[in-house]
Amino acid sequence: MCGGRGGRPPQVDAVELRCPRCLAHLHDRKRNSLIRTSALLAAAVLCYVPANLLPIMTVVNLGAQQSDTENARDEVRERRTQLDTQVDALTAEDEEIREELAALSANVDAQRAELEEGEGAAAEAETLRGK
Ligand SMILES: [Zn+2]
Repeated sequence: MCGGRGGRPPQVDAVELRCPRCLAHLHDRKRNSLIRTSALLAAAVLCYVPANLLPIMTVVNLGAQQSDTENARDEVRERRTQLDTQVDALTAEDEEIREELAALSANVDAQRAELEEGEGAAAEAETLRGK
């Protein structure tokens, strides 16, 4: 609407009324608007209570379901602590695996050196035998 105060032209009695300035459709005021508004307000007040008491967040973590209204932050903090613990455990395990791998690698190097030493001795024996 343009805000123009067209109002209802007194001479027009047609079904379709339009604003003389912007030609927007005009209609009568809604009936019982104060009662309607009061009813909506009352409904809003009634809905306010359960909206603030019933759970707003449901966390499903590995099949375990938890619903909460205000403890969501605590849950997130708790879950973060659990994850930190898991990360620490995995880091320790990773460290163990790395050490094990380093030990095995050193063992392989030692065996390879031993083998090459043996081959060198065999080749030397071969050349001595050939002479
Ligand atoms: Zn208008």
